Amino acid sequence: MKRFLMILTAGIAMIAGREEVSAQNAWIVDRFDDIKVLRYEVPGFDELPLEEKLLVYYLAESAQCGRDIIFDQNFKYNLAIRRTLETVYTHYKGDRTTHDWAMLEKYLKKVWFANGIHHHYSNEKFRPEFTKKYFMKVVKSVPKDAFDEELNSLRDVVVDAIFDDKLYATRLNQTEGQDLLLTSCGNYYEGVTQAEAEAFYAAMEDPNDPTPISYGLNSKLVKDPDGVIREHVWKIGGMYSPAIEKVVYWLELAKGVAKEPQKQIIAELIEHYRTGDLRSYDKFNILWAQDNVSNVDFVNGFTETYGDPLGNKAAWESIANFVDKSATHRTEVISENAQWFEDHSPVNPAYRKEVVKGVSAKVITAAMLGGECYPATPIGINLPNADWIRRDYGSKSVTIDNITNAYSKSAEGDGFLEEFMLREEDRERIVKYGKLADDLMTDLHECLGHGSGQLAPGVSPGALGSYRSTLEETRADLYALYYLGDPKMVELGLIPNLDVAKAEYAKYMMNGAMTQLSRVELGKNVEESHMRNRKLVADWCYEHGKADKVVEWVTVGGESYIVVNDFDKLRTLFGQLLGELQRIKSEGDYEAGKALVEAYAVKVDLKLHAEVVKRYSALNIAPYSGFVNVRYELVHDASGNVTDVRIVPQVEGYVAQHLRYAKDYSFLPTMN
Ligand code: ZN
Repeated sequence: MKRFLMILTAGIAMIAGREEVSAQNAWIVDRFDDIKVLRYEVPGFDELPLEEKLLVYYLAESAQCGRDIIFDQNFKYNLAIRRTLETVYTHYKGDRTTHDWAMLEKYLKKVWFANGIHHHYSNEKFRPEFTKKYFMKVVKSVPKDAFDEELNSLRDVVVDAIFDDKLYATRLNQTEGQDLLLTSCGNYYEGVTQAEAEAFYAAMEDPNDPTPISYGLNSKLVKDPDGVIREHVWKIGGMYSPAIEKVVYWLELAKGVAKEPQKQIIAELIEHYRTGDLRSYDKFNILWAQDNVSNVDFVNGFTETYGDPLGNKAAWESIANFVDKSATHRTEVISENAQWFEDHSPVNPAYRKEVVKGVSAKVITAAMLGGECYPATPIGINLPNADWIRRDYGSKSVTIDNITNAYSKSAEGDGFLEEFMLREEDRERIVKYGKLADDLMTDLHECLGHGSGQLAPGVSPGALGSYRSTLEETRADLYALYYLGDPKMVELGLIPNLDVAKAEYAKYMMNGAMTQLSRVELGKNVEESHMRNRKLVADWCYEHGKADKVVEWVTVGGESYIVVNDFDKLRTLFGQLLGELQRIKSEGDYEAGKALVEAYAVKVDLKLHAEVVKRYSALNIAPYSGFVNVRYELVHDASGNVTDVRIVPQVEGYVAQHLRYAKDYSFLPTMN
């Protein structure tokens, strides 16, 4: 499972001053369509011992070798289309200053970003903004021998796939009642109906197996010419073999420098790639889930099944990473003091947990992104996915801090805070402490908030019905908000001063009461439970602090702003609401929970909503972000021994990176 950044959820936008709005943000490498391409940094890499640097290097090389696999998995003609476009892009000698050419280039950039011709998020096929006629003219102007024979023979297929609206419209159809395989053009099944695929796997499964194999995870299901349905397994000697061989080549080198238990873990993964055996994949995952000692770690394999409408087949992905020691220390401090926080929480003492254990979340630094994790990248990962492995051996949950850092840095200067945050002092605090405040909010929410409190005897955890998840998220957020402003945080060295809390409080109220509405369709209510939670907190606190003007709506030049006048009293209100939320949960008070949610979390003021949508869209902020990878190079001494691994200081451009990948990391034939 993965967590993705939802733009604005944490109100990540930050800005230094109005004069910087138009300045080029150095974290943004490229910008096209609805996409921002960012760079990320790898802090701490230089300080790793050489052995670990080499391990990262080998795992990083391996991560880049499966790139063609994800293109082919997403759609069977993606490699043909990508290679045709790349060949055109590198060989075209005509005019590159025309609008048509710009549109063709944009289309190629989108294909690189989505690992294919379907949008990475909506799964809908891209509409080219250039004509078929123009495209054919450009293709014909490129020398025929620039394309290999296979590409020349696939020309019509490529052109139809790009230009025919009726063909391959969606990669992933999830509309109930339709044949999800015949209506999805993801490349996980061929010539097989949904009913046939379901019957195929139902026959394999043993419902009484307490440790069930993830059947179908690493294969394409195909009706072969003889009419028999067979799995074409992704392994060495099977489908995708040329790319998997390279993935394994680098894993072998990684194994050579890894220490135990990691050596054994990598060996098990290699065994799985060699045999295609899913039991060996389970064995790998069991060892991997239990390894909490290795500083360098990785994800590498057929992992997430979001791309298969039936949820059997896994996309190839990889991330090489190592522990972010200082950020992990932060969650350890919080978790070690879990009992203190619980004992002081502003709830009825009967509903505090007597013995509370905090969860320590691991924070990592990504060193290389590959496959489905590139260029669009998760900010958190929780693996392995097999339920029985999670149940019996646990799982690893990590937050990727250098990626979230890049997201927040890239938002500087996008004009968002300027537009919606009235007071300069608030903006300054958010610029200075916003990232730290967001991190601590997440830590407190996840490591303490959800685990805090206890039910009264006899109360069922399901008592709150459909309001449960909104109320639970609200409770965890309030726990985090309340403690972020506690002097204990300064005492523990987690924050330098309470301005960190002020930054978060101002941002939270703005987001909960106002700016998050930019993500809700005009005229609709708030549905998503985290959004409901934030609205509940903001609107309840506004209402209950009204007499003292704790929080105030201010109109300047016809535009609305929400302003916090009294941070201490706001914190007291957070504490009061937390007490009530805990009471509702502990007593299973359905009616009170329902009343709170319905009064504060759901209904949107239409006039305010329209204003927010208008102001937000005028900022023209790209809703999706992805990354260019860093590059590593080996440093040798005079006799050829490796003495160091270093990060190439110059950031590679988005186009340059993809053209290099096309040259150096393209191992599969065009049709597989
Ligand atoms: Zn939560």
